[in-house]
Amino acid sequence: MTEKKHIPFGKPLIGKEEKKAVEKVLSGPILVHGPESENFENSFATFTKAPHAVSVSSCTAGMHLIYHALGFGQGDEVIVPSQTHVATAHAVELTGARPVFVDAESTTGNIDIAAIEAAITSKTRAIAVVHYLGVPVNMDQISNIAKKYSLFVLEDCALSVGASFNGIHTGLLGDAGCFSFYPVKHITTAEGGMVILKDKSLAEKIRLLKAFGVNRSHGERKIPGEYDVTSLGYNYRMSEIHAAIGIEQMKKIPTFLQKRKENFIALEASLSGLDGFRILPQPINETRISSHYCMGILLESKLIDKRPEIMNRLKSMGIGTSIYYPHPVPHMSYYKEKYGALQCPNAELISNSIIALPVGPHLNNLDMETIAKRICYVFSEL
Ligand SMILES: *Cc1c(COP(=O)(O)O)cnc(C)c1O
Repeated sequence: MTEKKHIPFGKPLIGKEEKKAVEKVLSGPILVHGPESENFENSFATFTKAPHAVSVSSCTAGMHLIYHALGFGQGDEVIVPSQTHVATAHAVELTGARPVFVDAESTTGNIDIAAIEAAITSKTRAIAVVHYLGVPVNMDQISNIAKKYSLFVLEDCALSVGASFNGIHTGLLGDAGCFSFYPVKHITTAEGGMVILKDKSLAEKIRLLKAFGVNRSHGERKIPGEYDVTSLGYNYRMSEIHAAIGIEQMKKIPTFLQKRKENFIALEASLSGLDGFRILPQPINETRISSHYCMGILLESKLIDKRPEIMNRLKSMGIGTSIYYPHPVPHMSYYKEKYGALQCPNAELISNSIIALPVGPHLNNLDMETIAKRICYVFSEL
């Protein structure tokens, strides 16, 4: 244990291609409303096979826009998973509608589909799902429930670039999917997001709403500066600088995803059989393809109190880890104070016991061996 190479949990891979692309934009006259964001959208649409792709300033902005476009507000309810990033709930809350939390299933951490129907009321308008750690939710079952109650389905795809179910990319299994390009996600634009969807009129609507509700896009104005505003909207656009980075990242996606998969499989093989935790499974088969965001290990109950110590020891040995997510969303103070303490034992157990291990494309085979060796060592010393 002498070598001390630092292995971060996540690291954006920005190369000379991205830098060159940014410089090119900065040297030109168009910083917003230009060809880069359009090209990025086209490239993302091609990759996911999406009929429509709309670039936005973040995943959160994308989800908020969708609910805003659907006219959600006070008196409406949206089913939201407890085990997710707070953004999944905030996007609902920002419209004035109420997120109704559903617990996670213990096997994958995805929303417990069996518990959804009991949470549906006459006010429910939509179901939001998150493909937790990149493992696709069983969207056949979600669609059946949505059809039965005429609900909109929004997929939070912040961790699921490259993940598919029944051969369909996540985000196209429900009615809309929102992606994040925050630095530690599968690809990055620094900040940024993308909405993909099948419905043309909804796509057009969010294009208007992401730019103040202005009725004419930049290129369509006959007289510069002449436009009308037909609805209330936001400024949730992506700049040309961000989009230029995204275009270059798209070219690297296949390599990134392949590397994540290899790293996950290698780490799984080295860690299986070790005592003290179980690995959250990431099924790899033809119907359910994971995007391998990270590897979640769940500590045995007697080791849960030792999580800070385990993570600190790994850190001192150069291994970066993380927690996804630190508390179930309904247990975050804002939601607890507003809606009271809700029971979600599975999400709570995952939040309390998970350590997220890195499998990103910044790591090679040797790094994966190092991670495994150091984990074995730390657990053997407990
Ligand atoms: C990171 C993340 C988000 C937030 O994405 P932004 O692009 O930062 O808005 C939303 N949902 C999930 C599940 C995430 O992991």
